[in-house]
Amino acid sequence: MPQLIQAKTILNKTKRRDPWFLDDYTVNPYSGCSFNCLYCYIRGSKYGTHMEEKLAVKENAPALLDKALALRARKGQYGYIVLSSATDPYLQAEKTFKLTRSLLEVILKYRFPLHMITKSDLISRDFDLLEEIKSKAILPDDLKDKAPSGLLITFSFSTVDDQLAHVFEPGATPPSKRLVTLSDCLTRQFHAGVSLMPLLPHLSDTGEHLHEMMTAFQRAGARYVMPASLTLFGHNTADSKVLVMNAIAQHFPHLTEKYLRFFEHRNEMPKYYTEALDKKMKELAAMYDLPDRIIPQPA
Ligand code: SF4
Repeated sequence: MPQLIQAKTILNKTKRRDPWFLDDYTVNPYSGCSFNCLYCYIRGSKYGTHMEEKLAVKENAPALLDKALALRARKGQYGYIVLSSATDPYLQAEKTFKLTRSLLEVILKYRFPLHMITKSDLISRDFDLLEEIKSKAILPDDLKDKAPSGLLITFSFSTVDDQLAHVFEPGATPPSKRLVTLSDCLTRQFHAGVSLMPLLPHLSDTGEHLHEMMTAFQRAGARYVMPASLTLFGHNTADSKVLVMNAIAQHFPHLTEKYLRFFEHRNEMPKYYTEALDKKMKELAAMYDLPDRIIPQPA
């Protein structure tokens, strides 16, 4: 059973809007994340190896958000709220606590634009509220002519292979179900796409797997696919680098040496790799007609 906590703040104003995720604000209803992705950037000693054990529910989040958005709306400071940046808004606990649903009601009340980011099919429970947010959201002035919708829905994938995902994202909804929900979103005319982050070297970044994924996203009707390579941190037992290296040793021992070469002395993939991946993904984006940004950048 997750712990119930009282948060001090809930609406985080970003320093600068990220060009990929368009976040002016972020909201995280939970502290920690029970989806337990091994590569997750929030990993570390604070949440431990089994992040579900440290999960906390920010019980007062709707009241805090109501207060914060009332103030921002009064000043006309509209901007995309990303829900969520450091947890998933549709964890297993959300079925019981309905905290994300309560936050959506507040966001709708103040008509803020919203970017949902999830690895879960539970988002379909809230399609009714999301429809209303989409039709009522007020975009910030500088995005009025550029942003495709006041509601964006992004599904995160590191692979479309359910077995591979089970190793690296043990608590999340399997990719096959995520794809069905993505397709449902598009059938409802939501502006929805994919964050293909992180691609797993020699596992989900192979030519064959990339084509399989792009085909699946195109078939589902995705409007964009935003790719990125793997980044790993830390040398302690609960850190992403240690957890991913352990999983490689256990499930893909033939890749251990390659992963050691990549990550023993650094946190990011080498430049030759990121440049080659960038080039490949641009080719695939053109081939499958799937832009790599929500708001495509001029060439
Ligand atoms: S769903 Fe996102 S926040 Fe949760 S563990 Fe996975 S990467 Fe981290």
